[in-house]
Amino acid sequence: MVAIGECSTSTASRLFPASFRKDAAASAAVLVRRLSLPRRPCASSKVPSFGTLAVRASAPLPAAVANEASAKVIDGKYVSKLIRDEVSAEVSRMKEAIGVVPGLAVVLVGDRKDSATYVRNKKKACESVGINSFEVHLPADSKEEEVFKFISGFNDDPSVHGILVQLPLPSHMNEESILNAVSIEKDVDGFHPLNIGRLAMRGREPLFVPCTPKGCIELLHRYGIGIKGKRAVVIGRSNIVGMPAALLLQREDATISIVHSRTQNPEEIIREADIIIAAVGQANMVRGSWIKPGAVIIDVGINPVEDSKSSRGYKLVGDVCYEEACKVASAITPVPGGVGPMTIAMLLSNTLTSAKRAHNFQ
Ligand code: NAP
Repeated sequence: MVAIGECSTSTASRLFPASFRKDAAASAAVLVRRLSLPRRPCASSKVPSFGTLAVRASAPLPAAVANEASAKVIDGKYVSKLIRDEVSAEVSRMKEAIGVVPGLAVVLVGDRKDSATYVRNKKKACESVGINSFEVHLPADSKEEEVFKFISGFNDDPSVHGILVQLPLPSHMNEESILNAVSIEKDVDGFHPLNIGRLAMRGREPLFVPCTPKGCIELLHRYGIGIKGKRAVVIGRSNIVGMPAALLLQREDATISIVHSRTQNPEEIIREADIIIAAVGQANMVRGSWIKPGAVIIDVGINPVEDSKSSRGYKLVGDVCYEEACKVASAITPVPGGVGPMTIAMLLSNTLTSAKRAHNFQ
């Protein structure tokens, strides 16, 4: 399943509606029955092929130039590969120079197949760049104390530089207090309130920034898309994507509006944006007529919609109607292949940063 491979931080378990993600290996027929989203005209099975912006590994390129005919594609798959290669090179350099290998620990509680898949993918991603991975798998009926015990052990273990608690936790557990138990120095998901608080405050620096919004901003940087002074609209205000994305844009001197489920006339607000980050979870919600000509669109949404042409009976689309947006925007991330692959790349990058910081390695 594409989305599972692409979006594999602890946030990834939230990518699909609960009914959809219960069993990632469910048959296509069962999945289609679960899909409640109607097919919309723009959700055609063929993704148009547009030009891809050139991108460099280390230096940003000049800003994307609007093309009257079609938007340029912001290729998250390609950029994430560049970042993984950079992380891999730095891991090797660190190992050679000081004999330290970064380590990521994942705590998994319960037997959800989707969570197990995400954890397996994280492990694979770590292996691919030379990061050590550690895993604890506890039964669903474990007591909270057991989870605290393992988190505490990882907090004290100098070979572990990042700790992830795979979400969702079983319902008898208090997610907030468990996430708060992760040392902020190892909070590579960036969800600890101290890291989020620092992100929100002027003159303070978070130790880590949540991976998905960080991936969105990284895409803008890598493509040389200016943020300073721009009007940006973030659609969605979740703790894991929308809210930190808005904070990050503000830190980069954009002027931000946040649209949420109670916003009146969202189209009017969205139409003012030079940059749109959509993190809603509503297939094709943002239509072409909502977009200012030349705007840049980062589409975080990953939504399954029925597709009889696909062997699995569904396909994944974003929160933005891609086919319509391509005719108006100057640049856009595709779904899949946009923000999704960036999330895990940022997780690897955060783990490397943590190890470098712990060993004062430049
Ligand atoms: P979430 O926690 O469900 O938050 C959704 C946000 O959208 C809420 O703030 C909600 O507003 C807002 N919203 C809902 N309906 C709306 C509407 N009609 N108009 C305007 N705003 C509306 O979702 P999330 O975890 O942030 O995820 C959002 C999407 O991103 C999902 O499709 C998810 O699968 C995807 N995602 C992708 C990645 C990745 O790696 N690519 C990672 C995480 C999530 P209220 O606050 O008012 O309820």
